[in-house]
Amino acid sequence: MRELLVPNQRLNNIFEIDADYLKSIGIKGIVTDMDNTLVPWSDRTVYPKLAEWFVNLKNKGFKLYIVSNNSCDRGAMLAQELDIPAIWYAVKPRRKAFRKAISDMQLLPEEVAVVGDQILTDVLGGNRLGLHTILVTPISEKEFFWTKLTRQLERIVVGKQNSE
Ligand SMILES: [Mg+2]
Repeated sequence: MRELLVPNQRLNNIFEIDADYLKSIGIKGIVTDMDNTLVPWSDRTVYPKLAEWFVNLKNKGFKLYIVSNNSCDRGAMLAQELDIPAIWYAVKPRRKAFRKAISDMQLLPEEVAVVGDQILTDVLGGNRLGLHTILVTPISEKEFFWTKLTRQLERIVVGKQNSE
């Protein structure tokens, strides 16, 4: 039981995922959690960096899927904007939603990595099916608040420079 709670990899965030490494161990698809993995819980904004991350992985030949325990009204727009299929109300760590994502991607469990910020849902669920599990540090609201504020300041500064 205990080893089911241990991820194969621990990273600070999704941007640290090494696509070439995943390819080298036979991974062809990535199932990702939404809340606090892709975006903060209360924020559904698709920041350019996030959109780029998906495009890059798609360009490298990965299939992508969002599996979330949250509701579709909170995530549908995000999935649509990213053009990624999604399963809502997934009830992770139950295996049903993961199995559906894997079969939709037409892959085998050993060809799929799961990325998430929670051990008891994302890691446990993934390990139960023999997926490659990647635990990321949850995106904190506070951190994001500062990121946004910095961006706003950047815009103000850049805007001023442009008008000078
Ligand atoms: Mg999460």
